[in-house]
Amino acid sequence: MLTHSTPDHIPADVPKELHEAWYRYKAIVKLGHPALEQVAKPVTRYNTDTHNLIHRMKTTMKEANGLGLAAPQLGVSTRIIVYDSGDGVKVLVNPKIISSKGEQLDPPEGCLSIPGLQGQVLRAKEVRVKGFDERGRAVSRRALDLEARVIQHEVDHLDGILFFQKAIPDTLEWVIGDGDDDDGNGAPRD
Ligand SMILES: [Zn+2]
Repeated sequence: MLTHSTPDHIPADVPKELHEAWYRYKAIVKLGHPALEQVAKPVTRYNTDTHNLIHRMKTTMKEANGLGLAAPQLGVSTRIIVYDSGDGVKVLVNPKIISSKGEQLDPPEGCLSIPGLQGQVLRAKEVRVKGFDERGRAVSRRALDLEARVIQHEVDHLDGILFFQKAIPDTLEWVIGDGDDDDGNGAPRD
């Protein structure tokens, strides 16, 4: 349903009413940017750039009222995700989903890189994820429900996969008026 676009050009399918939203958070690259289609590279060592990137990811996610953000969404093809599914900001460097269980369909997903688009994606209800925190310490986490959903959405970003490619086609729709400061009604965006 979505045609390809070149960076900084809004695909023709996007309703006019959503164009402003596409330009609202300039730091976040949008559908059509090559970083969103690449398999991102693992972090091999922590340096100032890594710390600055993580800091930028956290601030951008907060500003945009997102649930999660992956480094490729800032145009950086590196395997780092940040998310906050309700109990504080978490960082995962080189995250790897090592097992998944069960299924969940709701809530519908959205993505800060495709403002306005929502749809249902079948995800695992529970995942176990391994990776490193922002200081390079190994972490292993079991995540359920929304947290599990966000992790799966973000890890997909690291593999160049966007949620609409996995969504149930009939459920995909452009939702106009899902304002950035109204987090109550719209789908989670990450
Ligand atoms: Zn996303």
